[in-house]
Amino acid sequence: MKLLRLLYEGKERYGKMEGGEVHLLRGNPFAKLKEGEGRLGLSQARLLAPVLPGKALCIGLNYRDHAKEFDLPIPTSPVVFIKPPSALLAPGAEIIRPTQSRRVDFEAELVVVIGRRAKDVPAKKAFDYILGYTCGNDVTARDLQPKDGQWTVAKSFDTFMPLGPWIETELDPSNLAVSAYLNGEKKQSSNTVNLIFGVPELVEFLSSVMTLEPGDLIMTGTPSGVGPMNSGDEIAVEIQGIGRLVNKVR
Ligand code: MG
Repeated sequence: MKLLRLLYEGKERYGKMEGGEVHLLRGNPFAKLKEGEGRLGLSQARLLAPVLPGKALCIGLNYRDHAKEFDLPIPTSPVVFIKPPSALLAPGAEIIRPTQSRRVDFEAELVVVIGRRAKDVPAKKAFDYILGYTCGNDVTARDLQPKDGQWTVAKSFDTFMPLGPWIETELDPSNLAVSAYLNGEKKQSSNTVNLIFGVPELVEFLSSVMTLEPGDLIMTGTPSGVGPMNSGDEIAVEIQGIGRLVNKVR
């Protein structure tokens, strides 16, 4: 099922994609979801980011080719940082380049959406705690990254976490093409088979440190080919089996 969140008659609602249109649902996927009344065309739906996360745990350098392009060693345990929920951005909304930065990059990433509270979950049980998967863009002020000792400032500006367009709940995340297109030109092209730490290992590692709550995100890292975006650009993150997340840059 493709689960999305939208603004409908002034209210935030969940819906699902079916036969090319949006079917409204009642409730939310972390408690109870019921069939709703009404449907509308996707082009009429004002999509919101498909979830409001309490926290977004992001994995750095999780593709060999990306570590290589920055001449960094392959990590032996996951490199983790956190993006704040205030960075969240809806599909179709504008990424704002902050005045403090001269280089703002896109990073196409598979994003895990946690469905149930998870603590000390072994890798082999990880899928019991996952609601589904969506596309994310780990937008990064690249020039601010080395200034900071760690990455919080460079990764946390408002609008730096585009997410969507929906959560695919029926998906095996182990072999999915991940791509980024800048103004229609393919810039990133890899596959989740190239992840250094796969989804089950990440759930095990992160839940051994902290409790993962329903709606929390794991951004699994980006492959090589990251690059800058300028005002007027259109950036699209595409993941096989999920769909395409498109945002403009200002
Ligand atoms: Mg990243």
